[in-house]
Amino acid sequence: MPIRQLSETMINQIAAGEVIERPASVVKELVENALDAGATRIEIVTGGGGLNLVRVTDDGGGIAEDELALALSRHCTSKLVQDIHDIRSLGFRGEALPSIGSVARLTIRSRTAQAPNAAEIGIEGGRASPVRPAAANRGTTVEVRDLFFATPARLKFMKGERAESTATSDVVKRMAIAFPAVRFTLAGTDRSTLELPATADNAEGRLDRIAQVMGRNFPDNALPINAEREGVRLSGYASIPSFTRANALQQYAYVNGRPVRDKLIAGAIRGAYADVLPRDRHAVTALFLKLDPALVDVNVHPAKTDVRFRDPGLVRGLIVGAIRQALAQAGIRPATTGAE
Ligand code: ADP
Ligand code: MG
Repeated sequence: MPIRQLSETMINQIAAGEVIERPASVVKELVENALDAGATRIEIVTGGGGLNLVRVTDDGGGIAEDELALALSRHCTSKLVQDIHDIRSLGFRGEALPSIGSVARLTIRSRTAQAPNAAEIGIEGGRASPVRPAAANRGTTVEVRDLFFATPARLKFMKGERAESTATSDVVKRMAIAFPAVRFTLAGTDRSTLELPATADNAEGRLDRIAQVMGRNFPDNALPINAEREGVRLSGYASIPSFTRANALQQYAYVNGRPVRDKLIAGAIRGAYADVLPRDRHAVTALFLKLDPALVDVNVHPAKTDVRFRDPGLVRGLIVGAIRQALAQAGIRPATTGAE
């Protein structure tokens, strides 16, 4: 057989296989785009656990009519950076929209502040339609229908509607804690509805948003965490040992403002509580790390949210030390067993 280049659609479907695992990945990508566009209100609607419908509407900067087709082209981005370690936007690969467009039916309707009216473009299983005029306010609506209709093998791997909705709501919560000044709403066909009004973009606002997401009683049952070591700053909240969960889902972590889910951080939290919590209980935490971007690689994998620290021992020590110190200051000591 002669050597040939893969078709554009097939290349995008392969990328989609990595980046778009499930409806929650679509929501993550679309919400990240809205945040990168400077949105202050983000409205998410899902149907059928997100497999039938995901619609994200924002009031951000919008996409110019003559750039709509580019937004669907592979490796095309308005977030181009010179240095891969100096990424300030959430996206930068220019992969999400073409990937989603290759496995679903996607429509973008958008209007910039300058444009007299909106325009829209569609793409179905990799086939784009011409740009047409539309009616909309400033901002962008991206609608994704029939996810994985073009890749039935992937569709078979989806869990139930409930599981997909839960994953979506988890993605939105994680993101919402990082952007307290943005209003988020999530509406679906089941219980996973969220309404998170905008709060102030300061420490108080952050705590308000944390309470919206993690429960009104969390702040009363949490200790403030503040520490710094060799230029790495840690802040946030960690629950007292009487306020725990059966799983670690309510452990939120951020590195330079990005939500991450990282083994090292999870391990450090476990270590910090090892003496005061039974092994099957998990603390509730929101931890924010700030460090020189050159000392952390946040781009390990497009869909994964783990990170690689230049000095993992330093980060682990910082987290363990800060939580233990907060617990000790609050007078919380390991339960004594037997005679002392
Ligand atoms: P990336 O986010 O990595 O640039 P995407 O495929 O997610 O790649 O998006 C491609 C481009 O489309 C973005 O760089 C941006 O210019 C534009 N875009 C996508 N979504 C939005 C949005 N909600 N508001 C404004 N522009 C958007
Ligand atoms: Mg993106």
